[in-house]
Amino acid sequence: MALRLYAATTSAGKLRDFRTAAQAFSIDLDPLPGIAEIPAPEEDGDTFLANAATKAVYYSRFAPGELVIADDSGLEVDALGGAPGVRSARYAADAGLKDSPDANDNTDVWNNMHLLRKLDGIPAKLRTARYHCTLVAARDGELVQLADGVVEGRILEAPRGTGGFGYDPLFYLPELDKTMAEIDLETKLSLSHRGRALKALLPMLSR
Ligand code: IMP
Repeated sequence: MALRLYAATTSAGKLRDFRTAAQAFSIDLDPLPGIAEIPAPEEDGDTFLANAATKAVYYSRFAPGELVIADDSGLEVDALGGAPGVRSARYAADAGLKDSPDANDNTDVWNNMHLLRKLDGIPAKLRTARYHCTLVAARDGELVQLADGVVEGRILEAPRGTGGFGYDPLFYLPELDKTMAEIDLETKLSLSHRGRALKALLPMLSR
């Protein structure tokens, strides 16, 4: 019988990544039933592992006997001492930069602008960075397995490309001479932090 996994995410982008990777291992992957109605746990850990484990362990209690996976991810910039790290989604908001209540959600634009401002004057060779993803699988409130994935790159001085999300238009991959926002989804998954974490985790679970 094929292994079934539930993904604890409401992000369409993450779900697509999870599904595409799972297919390659003949694993059935579905969103956790009813996740939209389940109150989200606080993500206030200091590490990707702490946050991913909190989510996987918490959500697994809503699907007794099933394997539930959750991830936490973000951008680490060397010249900023590893920031924004676990605060990647809230980088601009933490600095007091917020959308007005009647604006569309411009969180990614604010975050990218804030990052560029923080790196102002820093030369290209010192703008090294990586995306990091920690994936955790849990069952019945217990951690079962975990895996990490990273992808190294550099932060540009201006955005390039329209694909992806988050910091992708600023995240440059030297070996492809492209940003993460200039590559197709399949290529992104083949080399991204999330793709690499999935490739490490899924064979351990199907064993
Ligand atoms: P979370 O894993 O949902 O908490 O997301 C963390 C944040 O890190 C996102 O909101 C993005 O700002 C950033 N991030 C994580 N993965 C990616 C990616 O693949 N591309 C661009 N930004 C990302």
